[in-house]
Amino acid sequence: MNYRKFGNCGYEVSALGLGCMRLPQVVDEKTKMPTAQVDLDKAIEIIQYAADNGINYFDTAYGYHSKMSESVLGEALSYGGRRKRVKIATKQPLGAMGGKRENIRKNLESALTKLRTDYIDVYLMHAVDGNTWDSFKALGAIEEWQKFREEGLIKSIAFSFHGNYTDFARVFSDFDWDMCQVQHNMLDLENEATLEGVQLAGKKGCAVVIMEPLRGGGLAHAPERVKELYNSYDSERLPVEWAFKYLLDKPEISTILSGMSTLEQLKQNIEIFSKPQNTVNSLTEQEKKILSEAKARYESFVTVPCTGCEYCLPCPKKVAIPNIFRKYNDGMMFGAFGQAKREYWFNVASGSDAEKCVECGACESKCPQKIKIIESLKTAHESLKGHIE
Ligand code: SF4
Ligand code: SF4
Repeated sequence: MNYRKFGNCGYEVSALGLGCMRLPQVVDEKTKMPTAQVDLDKAIEIIQYAADNGINYFDTAYGYHSKMSESVLGEALSYGGRRKRVKIATKQPLGAMGGKRENIRKNLESALTKLRTDYIDVYLMHAVDGNTWDSFKALGAIEEWQKFREEGLIKSIAFSFHGNYTDFARVFSDFDWDMCQVQHNMLDLENEATLEGVQLAGKKGCAVVIMEPLRGGGLAHAPERVKELYNSYDSERLPVEWAFKYLLDKPEISTILSGMSTLEQLKQNIEIFSKPQNTVNSLTEQEKKILSEAKARYESFVTVPCTGCEYCLPCPKKVAIPNIFRKYNDGMMFGAFGQAKREYWFNVASGSDAEKCVECGACESKCPQKIKIIESLKTAHESLKGHIE
């Protein structure tokens, strides 16, 4: 396993981290579909295998797997002295605080109990964006996190982010963070925190942890036109390795989280992340060109030219317009809608899906791309509907 500096925190972490959001789930015998229940035996096997084979960074959160993920991780690491050998990161979302500052400490105490530990290495404010950041601050989250650190209950103060670069830079200007967790991959150079955001964090000495390195798993599969391109350079190298190599090249990045729900996936990834050549500043000019061309080829499958600018928001019916188009485009790009449907189910559950559109037309005139939003939402819904969690 290759190891990398964790910002200015004074230690190194494995280049591959285990994300505990996609642990194996019990499969319903009748429907053959995964249930909400974590398959405890398999999950513990994966976590312990990871900890025994070089992975020393484990990421979980208050809400993952219906609030079961922290307990599963805590149980798996409590045997064989594993807890002491690894770093644990977990997160508290704004929603769990219920608008009351005293709940912040209660939630931390609950996390410590579930994780069977006296301290958390990296404690994150979960899913920060432009709106939630103001609420975290107003509730006194920064001051609470600082107190926890002084008391030794947490070692590092961090946040995970889903938003745009402008908000990312604002969050950075408000506090001196130890770590930030962002969505980044070979397709997201201009999306979410963006490559510029990753570089900004690196310049400040803040550790950068990557989530969605494969864009929901999509980059593990390449359409024929991308495969041809990759094979022209090296027919043995899998698309998943190309996607990881893009990230591993970046010196700002400390660890890359991958949700691995089978032991085979975990073993394959450990192999990739252990190759000496898969390291910082290792891409050749030719490989960089191939990755750039691969991005263009993936994006040639994008059907709705939405840039995610959000000028169309807010929608009076809370339809998550750019978010829905992003999922639809991912399905088209990767030629598979499984993950996109799963993610869209959360829109349906929260009432922000395309079916809530009442065709008021307020959004269309604001779209600089002149997208026929109403019509496109209907098309997207037809492709994305149908998943049941
Ligand atoms: S047309 Fe639909 S999506 Fe657009 S603002 Fe109105 S309700 Fe929202
Ligand atoms: S305004 Fe248009 S391009 Fe911008 S997010 Fe909305 S749909 Fe996408």
